[in-house]
Amino acid sequence: MLRNGLPEVIKYAFIGEQRIGALLSEAGGLSKLRSEQALMDIVSWSVKYKASVTAGDYRDRSGLRAALNFGHTVGHALEAASGGNSIGHGEAVALGMLVESFAGQRYGITPRGHA
Ligand SMILES: [Zn+2]
Repeated sequence: MLRNGLPEVIKYAFIGEQRIGALLSEAGGLSKLRSEQALMDIVSWSVKYKASVTAGDYRDRSGLRAALNFGHTVGHALEAASGGNSIGHGEAVALGMLVESFAGQRYGITPRGHA
C-alpha cells in the first residue's frame, strides 16, 4: 500500500504544496510513516487537497488540475506496457515523475537539479 500510495503524496510536495512537506516532517519523515495517525493525517490531507483542486477546476479547463497529472503521462504508459498487473499505479507514477523531470530539464522547463 505505501509503495503505491506514497508517490502520489510525494507528488504534492513536488508540485509545490508545502503543507505536505510539513506533515511529513511532523511525522518524522517517510521512514516513520508506519505510525497509523501520521499516515491517516497525510492521507486525509491528500484526499482533501485533491478534492479541492478538482472542485476548483471541475471541467479541467483552467489548468489547475494539470499539476495533479505530474508523472501520470509516463506512468500510465508504463502501466499499459506492463499489461496492468506487474507495476502498481504509484510505482508507475514515481517512475513517471522521474522521467518527466529529466525530460523537463532536458527541454529547459524544469530547473537544473530538480531531476
Ligand atoms: Zn495517480
